[in-house]
Amino acid sequence: METKVTILGIPFDNITRKDFLNALYKRMNNRQKTFLVTANPEIVMYAHDNEDYYKLLLQADYIAPDGIGIVKASRTLGKPIKERVPGYELMLGLLEMADLEKRNVYFIGAEEEVIESTVSRVKKKWPNINIAGYHHGYFNHADPEMIEKVKATEPDLIFVAFGFPRQEKWISNYLSQASHGIAVGVGGSFDVLSGKTKRAPALIQSLHIEWLYRLVRQPSRYKRMAVLPRFIKQVYRQKKKEKGQ
Ligand code: UDP
Repeated sequence: METKVTILGIPFDNITRKDFLNALYKRMNNRQKTFLVTANPEIVMYAHDNEDYYKLLLQADYIAPDGIGIVKASRTLGKPIKERVPGYELMLGLLEMADLEKRNVYFIGAEEEVIESTVSRVKKKWPNINIAGYHHGYFNHADPEMIEKVKATEPDLIFVAFGFPRQEKWISNYLSQASHGIAVGVGGSFDVLSGKTKRAPALIQSLHIEWLYRLVRQPSRYKRMAVLPRFIKQVYRQKKKEKGQ
C-alpha cells in the first residue's frame, strides 16, 4: 500500500484517521510546526486551476482525503486510499487530544455568532482546553495585525474556518511567522460544531451521500459542485497518462 497517493498533483497521505491523529499527537507534543490540509475534489480542482494555491498546498505537512470523491478517484487510479478522513472528524479528534493534554487552542473564522457558540460548546465539551483566543472570520485576511494577535497567544492548535482558498493562504502566512503549532483549515466546521448547520444523519454518512444531503439542504452549493464532472474527467486523463508510462 502506498503511503502517498497523488491525485491531479496533490499528494494525499494514505493513512487511517487513527494514524493521522497519532502522528498529529506526536507533533503536538514535540512542538513541531504543522500545516494540515484536508482536501476534497473542489479543493483539488481549485489547485489544478490556480498555480499559487497549488504551490501553497504542497507546503502542507499532511494532506487528508476529505470526502468520498477523493477515495473513488484513488480507486480509479488503481492506488486505493485506505479511508476518507473528514476534516470535521480530524477537528474533533484534535480537540479531544487538546483536552487530554490541556493545550492552548485558538479558533478563528465563521460569523461572530457562530464563533461565540462554537467556543461555548468547546468549553462545555472539552473543559480542559485552554482557549487561547477566538475571532470571527470577517476581517481583512491580509491584515498582519491579526497574525500578531494570534502569535502572541502561542497556540498549540489553531483552527481556521474561512473556507478555501482563504484559510490555507492565511495559515501559510501565519505558520511562516509562528514558533510552533498545528494549523488546519476547517471550512464550514464551526457552523456544524456550533449547531448552525447539521451534519447528515449517520445512515446518510455511511452511504457516503453526505454531499447529496448537503446539496438538497443548501442548493447554493450546486455551483461549487459543478467542478465535479471536470474532476472526474481529469482523473481519467491522469489514469490514461500513467498507463502510457
Ligand atoms: N468565512 C469566513 N470569512 C470569510 C468567508 C467565509 O469566516 O471571509 C466562513 C463562513 O462563515 C463559514 C466558513 O468560512 O463558516 C466556510 O465557508 P464556505 O462554506 O464558503 O467554505 P467551505 O466549507 O466550502 O470550505
